[in-house]
Amino acid sequence: HWSRIRDRLKLEVGEVEYATWLKQIVLGPLEEDEITLLLPTRFLRDWVRGQYGDRLQQLWMVECAAVRRVELQVQRQPGGASPVVESSRAEEPAVVAEAPAPAPEVRSDLAAPLDPRFTFDSFVVGKPNEFAYACARRVAEKPSSPGFNPLFLYGGVGLGKTHLMHAIGSELLRGGRVSVAYMSAEKFMYRFIAAIRSQSTMEFKEHLRSVDVLMIDDLQFLIGKDNTQEEFFHTFNALVDAGRQIVVSADKSPSDLSGLEDRLRTRLGCGMVADIHATTFELRISILEAKAQASGVAVPTKVMEFLAHKITSNVRELEGALNRLIAHANLFGRPVTLESTQEVLHDILKAHDRRVTIEEIQRKVAEHWNIRLTDMSSARRARAVARPRQVAMYLAKQLTSRSLPEIGRKFGNRDHTTVMHAVSRVAELMTTDAAFAEDVELLRRMLEG
Ligand code: ADP
Ligand code: MG
Repeated sequence: HWSRIRDRLKLEVGEVEYATWLKQIVLGPLEEDEITLLLPTRFLRDWVRGQYGDRLQQLWMVECAAVRRVELQVQRQPGGASPVVESSRAEEPAVVAEAPAPAPEVRSDLAAPLDPRFTFDSFVVGKPNEFAYACARRVAEKPSSPGFNPLFLYGGVGLGKTHLMHAIGSELLRGGRVSVAYMSAEKFMYRFIAAIRSQSTMEFKEHLRSVDVLMIDDLQFLIGKDNTQEEFFHTFNALVDAGRQIVVSADKSPSDLSGLEDRLRTRLGCGMVADIHATTFELRISILEAKAQASGVAVPTKVMEFLAHKITSNVRELEGALNRLIAHANLFGRPVTLESTQEVLHDILKAHDRRVTIEEIQRKVAEHWNIRLTDMSSARRARAVARPRQVAMYLAKQLTSRSLPEIGRKFGNRDHTTVMHAVSRVAELMTTDAAFAEDVELLRRMLEG
């Protein structure tokens, strides 16, 4: 169990954090339902308890049915004498709960706190997310409107699902008078399991069913967790029947969430289903602009364009890169430049260096101008064919690390001087023909994306 838990933790917190704080944990004895974890110093023990206590407890409970509590202790090793063990129990009333905790505590423990940074104001709206944004706003304004219950938000990682859910919650709480519970599906499951173990499922259900708005994030987590799904389904029905609002997020649409029970999928798709699409270059730029402005550090347009080209998959990573630049600029009091960006973000950028192949370039360019792929290597000299071929050579030079002769070979064994000529010809044309330049830029973006 322990090695599985350690692997999981390593994945979650990353190697560095793991090595700093968690690596030194030694497995102590398991007595009845209590597992003891040992740490060499009081400082480490307190830190681990504060930062990872909950998580350790959750992971243990899921991994090992016999464990009901996790005890963190300090293990000193004085020469000879029996080890001095200092005891301190991780505070986990909801999980341990020999006696049912009083209602207000359970309630506050039910939902995760909302992140105050995730508001509607700080959410940058663009084509890919405007529909989801509008739906979220609508639900925050008027929960339980017909047609919007449940609200099902879905999309890839880091595209703003959690942000929108927190924004709904904060907005509703600001207006007062409604109770909101937000939690990840994972947390929902842990709470459910804990309730079963402490024989307090009734309280759990009653409390869940007493909220006005229930939001469950990352529902895909419940795939394969049949009992929890069942419980969620009943809670869901009870709430909707009572006219309460449900908001759910997942990484796929209800119909694509295979592994969820059919009847649950059906009900999830009954209200409003809103897709958050992958970001566009324009949206990424807007997000960078908003965040740079909020930071007060001047970030040149060139740098933002560079980042928006390079980091395309995930807003979280884009934000992380920008934050690092800003922190760096503040720390050293130096302005952000393209050069400093490349230096500071060296590792991130390397990870995002997608290797574009010459074949890919040829395919995209041929598609764009509607010529045959074979014409990339053919001897035809008609302008309609020759120009796209030159563009493909130009892009091959720009986007790959291939040498001129290597590129030439891929284009029907042409000479390196032909490639050189193509590259300079395209560069020249781009300065005089704006429409042509735009085409080439667009292609470059698509290939880099
Ligand atoms: P998801 O839940 O879809 O994986 P998150 O909501 O956690 O993604 O978003 C990841 C990060 O990106 C958060 O810090 C969030 O604030 C930010 N983010 C995502 N989309 C936007 C947006 N449109 N405007 C501003 N910030 C955004
Ligand atoms: Mg999320």
